[in-house]
Amino acid sequence: MEGAQAGSTVQKILVVDDAALNRELLRELLADEYLVDTVEDGEQALRRLREEGHSMAALLLDLNMPRMSGFAVLEEMRRHHWTQHIPVLIISGEYSPEVENRCFELGVSDFIHKPFESSIVKNRVRNSITAKMDAIALDLCIELEKRGVQCVPVPANESQWDERTGRWRSVVSQKHAAQAAGLGTIGRHSLLITPELGSMVWLGCVLCGAELEPDPMREPVCDDCGKCVEVCPARALDGGELVQQACWDHAFGDDPEKQVWRISCHACRDVCPYCLGSWNGGR
Ligand code: SF4
Ligand code: SF4
Repeated sequence: MEGAQAGSTVQKILVVDDAALNRELLRELLADEYLVDTVEDGEQALRRLREEGHSMAALLLDLNMPRMSGFAVLEEMRRHHWTQHIPVLIISGEYSPEVENRCFELGVSDFIHKPFESSIVKNRVRNSITAKMDAIALDLCIELEKRGVQCVPVPANESQWDERTGRWRSVVSQKHAAQAAGLGTIGRHSLLITPELGSMVWLGCVLCGAELEPDPMREPVCDDCGKCVEVCPARALDGGELVQQACWDHAFGDDPEKQVWRISCHACRDVCPYCLGSWNGGR
């Protein structure tokens, strides 16, 4: 493939908190957008990071826990440079500016204050992940430019209105770049499906002047399934391709009650037999 390199991060969140109620509340709040895993102390968190850090989109971390505190987890994460790739959000009660400053010095991305407010939790997690993906793309550009390759990072979550196609689109279609790079195949629901992680991925992209060797293209998986077409409440998949406006009008936008932007539908993704991929128990 020439000119664009796509990478991905799975939408898996690890919640680390000794309070079972907090673990379950956060799982419930985030379960419709992410695969949520929970552990109850710092030692378990580090074990999970060693084993599965490559497939983690974000860590939600309590500071006050028995055996190993959140600070000790952060110190260890910084020692292994994990905070460069995995956004950490602190689950906080009442903390002082000193504590918050110490957290930021250790690489924390943001705070989630109790009591949990659903839309704020979701927005903070989403913003932290996209900011981290953009930072990773920028780091890659810096490294490539040191080697004489010209490159430009493409923001993970930015789109412009395209008069020609009548659609919102990024400067480059990241899922098409990913498909061309052999990372996965685009399903009937218009999402990228990767064999390892299903469609629970977010994509990042760097445009570069180097000629890159792509992996072989993946075989399509949809056959005559059509489950996503049937389940779509906006009938946005009835034609040959996604009717973007119909989907967006139904699935995205401002919550009139809470005055926040929200995603309210991913029925097509949830019903897909390839949603989770082999790493997460799907096919
Ligand atoms: S997100 Fe919802 S509205 Fe959009 S295509 Fe999927 S099922 Fe339809
Ligand atoms: S639900 Fe079926 S048709 Fe839709 S993307 Fe998944 S496999 Fe393809």
